[in-house]
Amino acid sequence: MQNFGHKGQHYYADNVPVRRIAESCGTPFYCYSQLAIESAYDAYANAFAQHDTLICYSVKANSAQAVLRILAARGAGADVVSEGEIRRALLAGMPASKIVYSGVAKTASEIEFALSKDILQFNVESEPELHQISAIAARLGKTARIAFRINPDIDVGTHEKISTGKLENKFGIPWQFARQAYAEAAELPGLEVCGIDMHIGSQIMSLGPYSQAFERIAELVQQLRGDGHTITTIDLGGGLGINYDADNEVAPAATEYAELALKTFGEFGCRLILEPGRSIVGDAGILVSRVIYVKKGGISTFLIIDAAMNDFMRPSMYNARHRIVAERNNGSEQVHYDIVGPVCETADTFARKRQLAAQHADDLIFIEGAGAYGSVMASGYNTRPLVPEVLVEDNEFRIIRERPDYDSIIGLDIP
Ligand SMILES: *Cc1c(COP(=O)(O)O)cnc(C)c1O
Repeated sequence: MQNFGHKGQHYYADNVPVRRIAESCGTPFYCYSQLAIESAYDAYANAFAQHDTLICYSVKANSAQAVLRILAARGAGADVVSEGEIRRALLAGMPASKIVYSGVAKTASEIEFALSKDILQFNVESEPELHQISAIAARLGKTARIAFRINPDIDVGTHEKISTGKLENKFGIPWQFARQAYAEAAELPGLEVCGIDMHIGSQIMSLGPYSQAFERIAELVQQLRGDGHTITTIDLGGGLGINYDADNEVAPAATEYAELALKTFGEFGCRLILEPGRSIVGDAGILVSRVIYVKKGGISTFLIIDAAMNDFMRPSMYNARHRIVAERNNGSEQVHYDIVGPVCETADTFARKRQLAAQHADDLIFIEGAGAYGSVMASGYNTRPLVPEVLVEDNEFRIIRERPDYDSIIGLDIP
């Protein structure tokens, strides 16, 4: 289902003209579709319905309470990477028994907090971290259920900044050291080794890398079982891509991904854990902005909009290409614009040479595919207030995070 797009002259989020939201809460803002989030989650749930599977939504993709609540209501658990995210997940109604804790460097106080909440599983990423978790659990008289995140050394062909499963990356235990790590864990107090985990990267647009990684993990599970370890959960991580640009390649569907996963692991007698983030919320959100000025440069025509790199980092950080749609999308004159924000950095560029109908000051611009790694990565650079978030549910909308006022932003400073 298409949740964002034109109906006649106006651009809609489900059954709400986005212009109406802009009039009520000002621009820029993020706008999410509840229906889109639900249907993306359901695609995974249905694809894995025949197998014992826990879907732990990766909170870092979009951690708004309202978004987490939608997923909690559907039975989702959470994949978290910090104490803050554990708190967010619990507050949104995701039970501790469905929370897996990933991340390369969980601090002592974070580990203690997670143990006090009795979360489902720690995904351990190094030997020192293993010892830390063991020591803290033993001191508190608790048992930490752990899986090792294994780095299978797979090149996923994604942007270098979001590849995590190659040996040169900081993530996980190199697969060659896996058996040693499990042997070590078996000797330590306070631990219950229950599974294995992988997460090879993000925005992965083909199943090939998964196929290779799954094979390696499957082989390891058999070896580990042979070594006498109990493996009852296999965490496949997240990483499935979305179609940011319709002209580009097409992301694999949840059904195809499930088919591959179940073909490899279906007979292992294990519970599967999934950690999708981007593929749940990415297409379910847009960034709404207004044209401030149209400026003739020496070479380009600049469309200067009121959203900037601090609000949405993906284009400047990953050279990400997003579909950008204008509310005013007809008229005879077509222009190639460099679409930029007001921040004092040349990197503050959303797109170059993008063809749109001629735009004017105050026209609305929609950056699509902004639901994941958008709002959560925003900063207050240039003392710009964090962008508010709005949730559309069919023909209604509500603000789910307010725009902070200047007093509260500057008031944090201690002169
Ligand atoms: C970021 C992350 C995910 C989610 O990745 P997506 O590409 O958003 O699906 C899952 N697991 C771990 C450990 C992560 O760090």
